[in-house]
Amino acid sequence: MSSDRKTFHKDFTRQESIPEAGIKRALEIMQSGKLHRYNVDRDEIGEAALLENEFAEYMGKKYCLACASCGSSMYLALKSIGVKHGSKVLCNSFTLAPVPGAIENSGATIELVDIVDNYTVDLDDLERKARDSSAACFLISHMRGHIANMDLVVEICDTYGLPLIEDCAHTMGATWDGRKSGTFGKIGCFSTQTYKHINSGEGGLLVTDDEDVIAKAILHSGSYMLYEKHASRPPLSVFDRFKLFTPNYSCRMDNLRAALLRPQLAELERRCHRWNARYRVIEECLNRIPGIVCPARDSREGFVGSSIQFSLPDIDEAKIKSFLQANEERGVHIKWFGHIEPVGFTSAYQSWQYFKSLPDLPQSNRVLSKLCDMRIPLTFDPEDCMLIGDIITEIAEEILS
Ligand SMILES: *Cc1c(COP(=O)(O)O)cnc(C)c1O
Repeated sequence: MSSDRKTFHKDFTRQESIPEAGIKRALEIMQSGKLHRYNVDRDEIGEAALLENEFAEYMGKKYCLACASCGSSMYLALKSIGVKHGSKVLCNSFTLAPVPGAIENSGATIELVDIVDNYTVDLDDLERKARDSSAACFLISHMRGHIANMDLVVEICDTYGLPLIEDCAHTMGATWDGRKSGTFGKIGCFSTQTYKHINSGEGGLLVTDDEDVIAKAILHSGSYMLYEKHASRPPLSVFDRFKLFTPNYSCRMDNLRAALLRPQLAELERRCHRWNARYRVIEECLNRIPGIVCPARDSREGFVGSSIQFSLPDIDEAKIKSFLQANEERGVHIKWFGHIEPVGFTSAYQSWQYFKSLPDLPQSNRVLSKLCDMRIPLTFDPEDCMLIGDIITEIAEEILS
């Protein structure tokens, strides 16, 4: 064993610092003690309300609501379009645990839709289930930033009168055919949790053009009768129709988090370019390795490479585990979606057994059993990504060939 084996020493969980402007504003808010979003002076637009205005404008949507998390924003989205106990919600099988959790929380049951080799939803299965299942809506999860053909997704939803909600936790700043992810459906839901594209520790953003939906979502989020303080909202008369019939679920974002996010939003486009530069370096290395397959990405998919996924189609579970272990020992942290038991952040649909009947989806099983996943934090520079690519290449030569 040679001593010149390359090793990687940076931390895959280390995000960039909060911009100075955000820290400064957060300090002012802490000094004032006015952290609650409705704890503002008369005629003052609070930090959460300002963030909502700015995100709505960025997205080109009429309305935005800042929430406690993306999970809570999806829950509010489902409730606000009328999903209730006994409803059925379609969802692609490759997603993260908060998504089925939001569906269960709404009282609905899930109808899982299969995926295809590039990790996106299987459009044939979607069409079949949209036609046959009498579902109340389709909650599409752009899991790890992989965007399906949204023209066809929208066409299927329109054909069967199915409202579309988008889980954009990993597609903030991403596009399909030039149009922003999160603007294809009735509602788009975003995360501002630490590992997403803007970071407030926890947080979520919901966008829509529908005034009934936003009024209900604001009331559900816990606005009491203070919804007038929202700047991104329809006329008060819209709230009058719902205010006595809409329970308060306390899913608000506070001013402190909003203060951390506003300067990051201003930086988002630049961040997306920086992520993609890093993604391309690693992808190029991986594409040269026999036995590793990066998904083909449609030229219309304007994804954000804040993480990278690839498949190891030719080797069995034992070999996949030794590949991951060898990388781990040299500082390259790769996750795997094939674990039978859920580990870390990965989640296989078999672990959502709180739903009574989960189907067996052979295609999903096959794809997930080979699927690897690696974060690309912006604290890595392109040279770091080159080193990661070199290490994976060396290990692949030993293990995959
Ligand atoms: C992180 C994530 C969520 C949930 O976000 P939270 O803000 O943590 O609730 C939803 N969907 C996907 C695909 C995610 O990665």
